[in-house]
Amino acid sequence: MMLNSENGTAVRLEKASFSYGEAPFLFDVEFAASKITAIMGPSGSGKSTLLSLVAGFETPRSGRVLIGGGDVGGKPPSARPVSMVFQENNLFAHLSVERNVGLGRSPSLKLTEADHAAIAGALKRVGLAGKQRRLPRELSGGERQRVALARVLVRDRPVLLLDEPFASLGPALRDDMLDLVADLQAERRMTVLFVTHQPEDAHRIGQDMVFLDNGTVAATGTVADFFTKAGPEAFRHYIGAGP
Ligand code: ADP
Ligand code: MG
Repeated sequence: MMLNSENGTAVRLEKASFSYGEAPFLFDVEFAASKITAIMGPSGSGKSTLLSLVAGFETPRSGRVLIGGGDVGGKPPSARPVSMVFQENNLFAHLSVERNVGLGRSPSLKLTEADHAAIAGALKRVGLAGKQRRLPRELSGGERQRVALARVLVRDRPVLLLDEPFASLGPALRDDMLDLVADLQAERRMTVLFVTHQPEDAHRIGQDMVFLDNGTVAATGTVADFFTKAGPEAFRHYIGAGP
């Protein structure tokens, strides 16, 4: 699938608005993302809701969501070229690692030889070779997030949505996982929307930044610009860099 439209943008929101009840929550959200775009903002600012609009779990009340230049508004999540990793609870507790990863290829639990090979390859790639028979509870938190990434690998969709996936991991493990995401993005030319509350994580792998505040886009720009002294004031305030 050719994902990058002429303007080189893989995911675009156009004046997207959304509400859970009566009052609008996300309001006129507009940005274009390719490569790795970090999405930051205070708790409750709308980061997860924004990913839900791209994934198709929620539908905007107005405005559009485009992927690869095409409006995906009418498509259910399963028909969108997207995969997602959440902060936790990515795995089915009663299914082995292998079957959890296999769900990325097919909703059926019957795995073909080709499926087994793809799963083994993905587990090796995330450093979990040999753990395919384990249950999620027999893994560490970091290993469970690796399983979720392996499922993304076998799913092989061009857009990856990450909702604070590494927030519960220690710094060394987090850096490993971030580097893995950066490698995957480069290899597969994916577009990654990376929600994080860790500025250093955004700095490590993000090219662009969307900063949300109270349901609106407060600032956008390159990550490098965000981290200069002249970066957006709302962001500097958020990370405690002073006025
Ligand atoms: P963030 O991920 O930035 O912390 P969210 O997108 O989860 O923010 O939430 C944005 C706002 O929407 C919050 O005020 C939250 O309470 C509200 N919200 C989130 N999910 C729901 C829901 N399913 N029903 C009603 N309100 C919700
Ligand atoms: Mg959230």
